[in-house]
Amino acid sequence: MGAQAAHPPQEASSGDKLSPTPTPAPSPSPLCTTCAHPAPHVYTTYTSKSNIRLGVCTNCGAFIDPLIEAPALLLVLDLVLLKPRVFLHLLFNRGSPPLDAGVTLVPFGAPPAAPPGQPYRARVRHDLAALTAATLAADVGVRVLPLLQAPGGFADTVEAVALTVVGAALELLAQHAATLALALVVLYARGWYPAARADTRDGRQRSFVPELVPLVLLYTTLFPLLLQLALSIWYAPPASIHEALPTTPALAVLPERVVASLPPALAEGINAAQDSVVAAWSGANRVWVGTRLLGGMSAGFGLRVLLPTRPWETTSIVIFGWVAALLVSQWLSVLEPGLG
Ligand SMILES: [Zn+2]
Repeated sequence: MGAQAAHPPQEASSGDKLSPTPTPAPSPSPLCTTCAHPAPHVYTTYTSKSNIRLGVCTNCGAFIDPLIEAPALLLVLDLVLLKPRVFLHLLFNRGSPPLDAGVTLVPFGAPPAAPPGQPYRARVRHDLAALTAATLAADVGVRVLPLLQAPGGFADTVEAVALTVVGAALELLAQHAATLALALVVLYARGWYPAARADTRDGRQRSFVPELVPLVLLYTTLFPLLLQLALSIWYAPPASIHEALPTTPALAVLPERVVASLPPALAEGINAAQDSVVAAWSGANRVWVGTRLLGGMSAGFGLRVLLPTRPWETTSIVIFGWVAALLVSQWLSVLEPGLG
């Protein structure tokens, strides 16, 4: 298997620029999980032996999608390890209909395919709805668990849970809307979307629909959220951790000598900013910060597999979504102290 670098092939460059007439948008198709080259089918089914045969990529010679036969546990492990092939499999190939080499037959051990004939975009939307529900449930669980331990009546608890659900949903919506908006702007600026060429050799561009952006974010953030949920149930950070924090010198942004040489007003401002950062860090939940950072980095990696963007563009897209969620959270906490 001459597995090449996991990068999509370059666009065909010869001759095409002579014809300025726009070509029709290409239809979605599965793609190679090694090189992202589009493929007509991931695997072929046969009647005689109830077996399936994996397709081979015409571009790089590797199996188009070895994960089509993989158990769910392997997919989860690949997701945790952030392997590019699992994102391409989940986003583009899962549930795609096989090439039927004989009479229609459900192959033994085949992956749980979507109902035959279900279009690609409908499959993506179905996955998006399921993952949104799971992520929201995990997020609400993480936020509600501390509330349940606090003293209070049943009515108070119900009200707090309801407010938490609304707050978490609004933050998720803001994050995904902002991420998608900036991602589409970047893709439009690069001429990648919506004007995909019919002969594109990048399977991601061929099958791209905007719903894939929130979907890949959900795939990458669900695991850190579940980790946080598990930690919040079984792990209580020691109470002394905040007292043991290093004070200003270790966290100082600028050396004291530099601050002393600045104008007094500016130095005061810098000192105040440092103090507020230290105070925020001291009061923060380290588990929360850690899992959010993990989620953010994973999201950047997932988007990098899906989109043809440069690393700084991908990072900007992820941070933009975060800032939107943070702003909504701040706004909600001002509006209603129970929210956000
Ligand atoms: Zn390939």
